[in-house]
Amino acid sequence: MQERMRELVKILNRWAYEYYVLDDPSVPDREYDRLYDELCALERETGVVLPDSPTRRVGGEPVKAFERHRHIARLFSLDKAVTTDELSAFFTRAEKAGEATFTVEYKYDGLTVCLTYDKGKFVRATTRGNGTEGEDVTAQVLTIPSFPLSISYQGTLEVRGEAVIRLSVLEKYNAAHPDEPLKNARNAAAGAIRNLDPSVTRSRGAEILFYDVNYMSDSPVKTQCEAMEFLRREGFKIYPHFRICTNFDEILQAIEEIEVGRRNIDVLTDGAVVKVNEEEIRSAMGATDKFPRWAIAYKFEAEEAESTVERVFWQVGRTGKLTPLAEIAPVELAGATVRRATLNNYGDLTRKDVKVHSRVLVRRSNEVIPEILGAVEHVEGSIPVEKPALCPFCGSAVKEVGANLFCTNPACPPRVVQKLTHYCSKNAADVEGMSEATLTLLERERGVRRFSDLYALRAEDFDGLEGFKEKKVGNLLSAIEGSKHIPLDRFLYAIGIDGIGRVAARDLAEYGSVEKVASLTYDELVALENVGDVTANSILSYFADEENREELSRLFAAGVEPFVRARVTTGAFAGKKVVLTGTLSSMARPEAQKRIEALGGTCQSAVTSATDLVIAGEKAGSKLDKAKKLGIAVIGEEEFLAMLS
Ligand SMILES: [Zn+2]
Repeated sequence: MQERMRELVKILNRWAYEYYVLDDPSVPDREYDRLYDELCALERETGVVLPDSPTRRVGGEPVKAFERHRHIARLFSLDKAVTTDELSAFFTRAEKAGEATFTVEYKYDGLTVCLTYDKGKFVRATTRGNGTEGEDVTAQVLTIPSFPLSISYQGTLEVRGEAVIRLSVLEKYNAAHPDEPLKNARNAAAGAIRNLDPSVTRSRGAEILFYDVNYMSDSPVKTQCEAMEFLRREGFKIYPHFRICTNFDEILQAIEEIEVGRRNIDVLTDGAVVKVNEEEIRSAMGATDKFPRWAIAYKFEAEEAESTVERVFWQVGRTGKLTPLAEIAPVELAGATVRRATLNNYGDLTRKDVKVHSRVLVRRSNEVIPEILGAVEHVEGSIPVEKPALCPFCGSAVKEVGANLFCTNPACPPRVVQKLTHYCSKNAADVEGMSEATLTLLERERGVRRFSDLYALRAEDFDGLEGFKEKKVGNLLSAIEGSKHIPLDRFLYAIGIDGIGRVAARDLAEYGSVEKVASLTYDELVALENVGDVTANSILSYFADEENREELSRLFAAGVEPFVRARVTTGAFAGKKVVLTGTLSSMARPEAQKRIEALGGTCQSAVTSATDLVIAGEKAGSKLDKAKKLGIAVIGEEEFLAMLS
């Protein structure tokens, strides 16, 4: 009888796996029921229930209260990003920790659960709780069929998944319970798991989608890809969408895929999760007291709406890049009527398969121009957008670099105007009143092309230009004059070096002068917190360019005088460039950095010859070695705390 029971358990578990995990049943329900009844009868007769018997899925009696249970390894929650800048900062940090690849997955909106296995058998299910300790929900989770009761892995294992209720299941449930409908899929899932009565859990039809291996006692997986493969192989339900990315653009693309795709899937989601794939790099990046540094949740908080593309035209930016812009049927989005949306670049346009007349998804978030995320529907008779062979403005040849098209003419009028507009903008040289329209006019009518041309403008240059009365001209000229006295970081941002945003410009400005920045080596550049490989190279080529150097001389000759902003000059770390390495037991690294900066120091992310001091905590590695090699002063945590006090 026991042998027959063993056999029945094996068959029934395989059929349940096919049905619930693979969504691909191989036998009709009644066949399953027949063997299930046979097993029940045998269990009654023998009084034996095998540890992985499907009858355990019934879930048993209601519990009085949930017991607390401590997780083997801490279950982290994730740091969140809502802007591409935050995402890009995460990417830069990861890149600096090593040659990382990234995985991008859906972020489900349900209840996180943690399943423990030992010697190949399911032992326990707990909620995440506070990350260290959760509630024991074994009886409840047992009623959910999307995970195995026995696995081939024999060590101790904790896996993590999200308990969710499919939107279609919720709809059916609510139709059957019109008096007590469930508010939304997330609450429904949480309420199903955290219900003292397992039969309620079962009636809600929850499932668990697995996405992480939290702890493995023997031969732990080394990458997220391996973890997903392990989960799949052992019979856990995983969501099929999973992307591996090697660069930032691929990450953005994978996120967009999710942002569009999630509208058509049956599970509630609220974002995408980006993880560093390699365990080795993960441990190098470590964790703050709240979050791991190697993963981030990108939350979709922007507003989205559908519209139709009416026309696509091109714009030339200050680097010469041709950007496709779509005119769309007007749509209300985040309190504004949107009529135009960007398609970013030619590669994007093709990849998203956006054509004239396509139904598209448009996103608008704060201060960012509306963007087309992708085509939601293909319409008959839609017209593909032609790839311009020549610049639509100046007729020059177009060069294709990766996903982008560039006008090759540095004097292409809209490009010149964009460069000047950027230079005059608020966070750059801040020439008040100098609008894009004025610059377009000055470019066309007065040949203003370079930044230095602005400083050569005289009142008579405005004679004969419509709309420029004496007072307006006076204001403009004094705004131009005023921009000569400019903080160095804003100047470095204004001159438009590729890839230099305001943050990286502040890093560079720490060096005190344009001359000094121009003389930095590749190693010194990438040592800066916010400068990666690509930006470092673009800074080097900017200053290597003869034309750029001449333009800088012209600006200085015209009286432009970048100055270093006053900074904290007193305090234990005044004027010192400091590198933190290893783990401090008394505070997290961001806190340490803040306190160093408050006492006049500057924090760098890597040791260079310019570093003054290295603070080495526990398990300090290569940075400490390098500091010793370069003969840089090194102190430990105790001395550091003494300096702080
Ligand atoms: Zn052009």
